Amino acid sequence: MNVCVAGVGYVGLITGVCLAYLDNNVYCVDIDPEKIQNLKNGIPPIYEPGLKELLEICTKKGTIKFSTDIEEGVINSDVIFIAVGTPSLPSGEPNLEYVRSVSFNIGKYIDCNKSRIVINKSTVPIGSGNWVEMLINEGVKSNKNICNNTTNKHPKFWVVSNPEFLREGCAIHDTLYPDRIVIGSDNDEALAILTKLYNPILQQNFIRPVKEKINPPNITAVPLVTTDITSAEMIKYASNAFLATKISFINEIANICEKVGADVQQVAQGIGLDSRIGNKFLNAGIGWGGSCFPKDLSAIISIAKEYDYDTELLKATINVNMQQRHNIIKKLQQALKIIKGRTIGILGLSFKPNTDDLRDAPSIYIITQLLKMGACIKAYDPIAMTKCQKTYSELNVTYENNILDLAKDCDAIIIVTEWDEFIYMDLNKIKEIMSIPIIIDSRNILDTKAAEKAGIILHQVGKSSQVKSLLNSKVG
Ligand code: NAD
Repeated sequence: MNVCVAGVGYVGLITGVCLAYLDNNVYCVDIDPEKIQNLKNGIPPIYEPGLKELLEICTKKGTIKFSTDIEEGVINSDVIFIAVGTPSLPSGEPNLEYVRSVSFNIGKYIDCNKSRIVINKSTVPIGSGNWVEMLINEGVKSNKNICNNTTNKHPKFWVVSNPEFLREGCAIHDTLYPDRIVIGSDNDEALAILTKLYNPILQQNFIRPVKEKINPPNITAVPLVTTDITSAEMIKYASNAFLATKISFINEIANICEKVGADVQQVAQGIGLDSRIGNKFLNAGIGWGGSCFPKDLSAIISIAKEYDYDTELLKATINVNMQQRHNIIKKLQQALKIIKGRTIGILGLSFKPNTDDLRDAPSIYIITQLLKMGACIKAYDPIAMTKCQKTYSELNVTYENNILDLAKDCDAIIIVTEWDEFIYMDLNKIKEIMSIPIIIDSRNILDTKAAEKAGIILHQVGKSSQVKSLLNSKVG
């Protein structure tokens, strides 16, 4: 099938590359010329495991093309994905500027030679399906490609909602082996074409790219959920709102655990084995960040407000999350007493491991607060440092090349992102070179006993094991 993907960021590029891998002819369009030039040279603008290798395969096969020219993409395609960003405005509502512009341009360049499906993959407010259709029709008014001598003077297109659920850090895996595909459409023809496009994924009958560091799971088919457009739009918001609430829930339990002397990891294991609850998204820590949860929660709250509904639970979810970031600073304050003039090492900058995405990353909040408090900040991240230096050049941070360079002479370290290499770091060496061996493990990734043995003063979330073992030794 001929596919155009407008917007080659985290979602658009992964969608484009995976569909090209499945032998569709994919035309990726973006307004950022630097991004497009790099992609033409085989350099992905984002870090995502397996992406570079898959891109190379598709480029060799000739199934993927990159351009800044949306006209060519629209003309040559049967299916057009809108995958542009929808970041939050200060009001909490999503900024729909990019969706508006790309929808208008689709209308401006679409022709009457065939029917097309326009797919909203961007996370957009409820009712956007109709709005995008209206914008395309507005674009049609200034369209020069519409051939006057055809009987069918108005281009034929259907707008469909196809929300995206990929997780950054395993985005290719999630695209090729998703838990489900959701298509919201009121049109059977559009639904049939999209089912055909996704058929290899639905049937899992494509050759799996195992060599590209993407481990295929043992699934034989993927469920297809077909709904009306509004329900599909709502499914996306409801999924993210639920997952964010689950994390805030366990963080609230963690805070109570600290008070009463329980261990949140043991509690999470105990509740997670209940099949009604499930064990995912029960890791207590610094809370959620990233490009989706914060903006999607703000968006659903503001959508509900338009309908005069007050979302008390979702507001509490956000408040607990913000409080959790602040709790990490409080832990540091309690451990060090004075922050001013202290050297603090930040381990991890990206909002989660295996990505370089820094959007609403807890690290940026922590660094900003500590700088305000007069601390001197060193940071290390395996992938996201260059992006951080570029995006947050105003932050006075010394970037280090590895964990040991970071640890040297630090008065405390905060583990902010749970990268694998932090889980297995040499705590004995780190203890030797730090000024004061305090580690605030905001992701609960360190082995408590190993840290104690190495002489590290460890503070975790929802755990009071050091205090407990002290109490036990006194009682014993
Ligand atoms: P992104 O910011 O990484 O990428 C958006 C891209 O769109 C950018 O490269 C930008 O240059 C391009 N763009 C902007 N206007 C354009 C135009 N008129 N024509 C062509 N290109 C244009 O965004 P993202 O993280 O990929 O998110 C895209 C959408 O998908 C958002 O609505 C987001 O909520 C949703 N989503 C994201 C994720 C995720 O993990 N990132 C997951 C699920 C859904």
